Amino acid sequence: LTGGCQSELTVSVGEMVAQLEREFQAREVGEPDLSALYLVGQAMGCANPDGLRQRHWNQTLNETQLACVQRFRQCRLAHMPIQYILGEWDFRGLTLTVRPPVFIPRPETEQLIDLVTPLVLSAGESDRVLEIGCGSGAISLSLLHEIQGLSLTAVDQSRAACALTMENALNLGMDSRLSVRRGQIRPDGSLEHWAENQTYHVIVSNPPYVLRKDLLGLQREITLYEDLRALDGGRHGLDVILPILKFASNHLVQGGHICMEVDPCHPLILPEEMDKCPDINLRIKSVHPDLYGKERFIIFQK
Ligand code: GLN
Repeated sequence: LTGGCQSELTVSVGEMVAQLEREFQAREVGEPDLSALYLVGQAMGCANPDGLRQRHWNQTLNETQLACVQRFRQCRLAHMPIQYILGEWDFRGLTLTVRPPVFIPRPETEQLIDLVTPLVLSAGESDRVLEIGCGSGAISLSLLHEIQGLSLTAVDQSRAACALTMENALNLGMDSRLSVRRGQIRPDGSLEHWAENQTYHVIVSNPPYVLRKDLLGLQREITLYEDLRALDGGRHGLDVILPILKFASNHLVQGGHICMEVDPCHPLILPEEMDKCPDINLRIKSVHPDLYGKERFIIFQK
């Protein structure tokens, strides 16, 4: 009797994944297969989908695990990004806490680190590096993790972002090498609370660069949960990029570099836009494609 009763209530990991996947598909939730795998994995304490398949597939979920899956399922049905539901996400091998509404680090941004590292190393000065718009801290913390002896300053206009960057730095034991400050870049290229004469060898930024017309096309996951100030670049996607270039013109040492992630249309339109701004005195040194082959990164030099 009890056996019969139990078999109606019990569900294996594999069955639960299949069931969730079907429901996500029917309710038009993005990436139904991955969503189901990650969420059940999280409930089972196994972050890795392959591990879940190999080690847990036929296990039965207990009551706590079932309750967990139900909670995650509700969040995902409301289009919350998987990363926010899990509460952490990996970037260049670092596990970062992620939390709404702070921008979730994207895989293509990992490459920015490969471009910035040689600039930092060749600058020689280990403490004159600035990140503008640090979000969760992904870029700054990767640089600190990968470059020995480096210390740097990270700034963001959002209080939540600054707090999260600091929290991640503390979790990763890198807080003593990172100075986080709140500040907003103004249209004239000044940065709130920033000393006029402070200079840097390298500046790095993944600024808001999405063109206004493309904002509407973004997934619900993004528009409902992420701080759009981290994405909205205005009509041509340059509303923050140009002020950052003005700031860099003033605050880079001669020969210093700024490396930025941009929209693929920007390498084409920026030369003319920069010519129109007398207070930008940088040249485009190189343009680099992302892992999808789109022109995504620009290195400028003063
Ligand atoms: N590539 C990002 C996205 O669409 C945009 C990032 C940004 O504006 N910095 O998710």
